[in-house]
Amino acid sequence: MSVVTRFAPSPTGELHLGSAYSAWTGWHRAREAGGRFVVRIEDIDIRRCRREFEHAILEDLRWLGFTWDGEVRRQSAHFADYGKVLDQLDEMGLVYPCFCSRADIEREIAASANAPHGPDGPLYPGTCRHLSLQERRARMAAGHEHCVRLDVEHAAARAGPYHFVDETRGCIEGEPRLLGDFVIARKDTPTSYHLSVTVDDQLQEITLVTRGEDVLPSTHVHVLLQKLLGYRTPLYAHHRLLRDPTGRRFAKRDRDMTIRSMRERGMTPQQVVELALSWGRATPVA
Ligand code: GLU
Repeated sequence: MSVVTRFAPSPTGELHLGSAYSAWTGWHRAREAGGRFVVRIEDIDIRRCRREFEHAILEDLRWLGFTWDGEVRRQSAHFADYGKVLDQLDEMGLVYPCFCSRADIEREIAASANAPHGPDGPLYPGTCRHLSLQERRARMAAGHEHCVRLDVEHAAARAGPYHFVDETRGCIEGEPRLLGDFVIARKDTPTSYHLSVTVDDQLQEITLVTRGEDVLPSTHVHVLLQKLLGYRTPLYAHHRLLRDPTGRRFAKRDRDMTIRSMRERGMTPQQVVELALSWGRATPVA
């Protein structure tokens, strides 16, 4: 089977050296294997994503020489695809509407003695999971805003034990409860990061997912969704996050670390790629 990798930036800022390193990883793995490298724009957050950033990112990728195969897939043009899969999960009885506001969730967590915690802090306490069907219908009929969450206990029971393989870490046992009852569809869009990534990796026939190790916890639930939906599970290669020689990680706000500013300073594509690779090699294992 031929190798298909992807780079999936969210256009909320300019491409910086850290994401360029990530793009290089996917591009390089596809090219050395004679496979395909695809680009996907993850712009479901229509308030934060901007077309100018999308154009700038694509232009920087071209300038760096990371040419991609086929058309760029823009997630905001495919809400119907995600909606269909959401309906599928609904028919399986694995999702529920959640009417909680952020403040409701914080209050509930503060009031409970042993709120479950995930990699990024407290998890959703499951308040709306206990609503009756009648109550759900009544609130929806009254037009209450809601997101949709996965009922992780049910989902885990349905999927059974599962594993995935990370190239450097080996075989990893899936932890379906790691992120709690995570959001499958946000209040403002019929999807979420987790749902659309899972659907797109399947539709774009990705065989190797190369991305930063900060996303590793999410992989546990992406593979859970793959199992529930009968999708293939790709191979994963979570790479270390790039740091400068002082050990500092980059943020999108570090303007001097953007490819744009390096271009303005007169650096060549080769110099930028070499810098990313040398810092990538020097980055200690987390
Ligand atoms: N859109 C995500 C980001 O920019 C990509 C995560 C992924 O590759 O799945 O961080």
